[in-house]
Amino acid sequence: MTSGTIYLVGAGPGSPDLLTLRAARLISRARLIVHDGLVDPQILALARPDAKLISVAKSRARHTMQQNDINALLVAEALKGKDVVRLKGGDPFVFGRGGEEMEAAHAAGVAVEVVPGISAANGAAAAAQIPLTHRDHASIVSFVAGQCKGLTQQNWAGLAGVGRTLVIYMGVSTAAQIAEKLMADGLAPDMPLAVIENAARPEMRVLRGSLAALPQLVAAKKVKSPALIVIGEVTAQLVAQSVTQSVGVEAK
Ligand code: SAH
Repeated sequence: MTSGTIYLVGAGPGSPDLLTLRAARLISRARLIVHDGLVDPQILALARPDAKLISVAKSRARHTMQQNDINALLVAEALKGKDVVRLKGGDPFVFGRGGEEMEAAHAAGVAVEVVPGISAANGAAAAAQIPLTHRDHASIVSFVAGQCKGLTQQNWAGLAGVGRTLVIYMGVSTAAQIAEKLMADGLAPDMPLAVIENAARPEMRVLRGSLAALPQLVAAKKVKSPALIVIGEVTAQLVAQSVTQSVGVEAK
């Protein structure tokens, strides 16, 4: 029997109209969808009524399914001849473990297709009207994971600063260590930043502050995951006041 194909599909930051047409088509035709916790229910609602939906929701503290088990599940279903839509928040290849699932499929000789999604950084930047690059303010943009093995050992030197934008995924619970680490690397305590919670969703919050005030901002505003921390001059410029609350910096 020929095996099915595993489609690693990016679901974008939330809203169904930020799906690619290719993703929407695959979701609406799929018989089997394996999705993680960040995928919005409105997107899952695009699936056929008879589609089988399997949640492999992951959160930092609670792993409902280990990555190896997810890989094994995808491969086992494909080897039974089924096409599998593996639906992930944002983009599958940006902190999405899409690479590991692709490797597992390749190792088992199963065909894989990857459908890109709007990553949280792009969705958040658009929704909060914070350009990630700007000819006057930033010509380098970097994405880092704030919750990862050995945060303190990660070398972020040079990624943030004047003329640069640093986007930190999964950084809410380690905000204090992140601020300390960046200031130890020489970043100015008054470097502006924005925390964007639930980007591109109706409940989005955009909070602005300075690097030194980041831990205080996260605590005072009770910021919860999913949220991004964007550090750099772009967060202080071209401010969309209507979606902005300010803590720790005076309005310019
Ligand atoms: N593959 C995803 C990232 C998964 S890691 C992507 O490309 O977007 C999970 C982290 O992504 C969260 O901890 C948070 O930092 C970020 N994130 C995902 N969706 C988000 C959203 N709607 N708003 C803000 N941050 C989000």
